[in-house]
Amino acid sequence: MAQAPSIRITCECGETESVAYGETWVCDTCERRWNTTQIPADAYAGRRRRMRLLKLEILGFGLVVLVVFAPLVLFVSSAFVFLALIVAAAWMFLYMPFWRRRVRRAAGEAPRWELHPE
Ligand SMILES: [Zn+2]
Repeated sequence: MAQAPSIRITCECGETESVAYGETWVCDTCERRWNTTQIPADAYAGRRRRMRLLKLEILGFGLVVLVVFAPLVLFVSSAFVFLALIVAAAWMFLYMPFWRRRVRRAAGEAPRWELHPE
């Protein structure tokens, strides 16, 4: 499975580091401790859930295309292969860019949290 998205921490001294949720980072330069568990678990889980839903949407769409076209091609007419290709092409060129934009937006909308050194 995909790894949990890491959290980018910017220290008060300007040092930055990406750490996994739940980890504590000690800044190399000024030795402040930054604890990512200060981020509410709900907020973090909500963000992960949104990204997972977007991935499921792609899988679901692929599955629907397969379920609709596989029997048509196998049992009705091989001519449906062409229709399936057209749908696949439309999906690649019309839907995927739109989907990627939404993923980027979802990632970009990720809230910023104010952590406090321990
Ligand atoms: Zn620092």
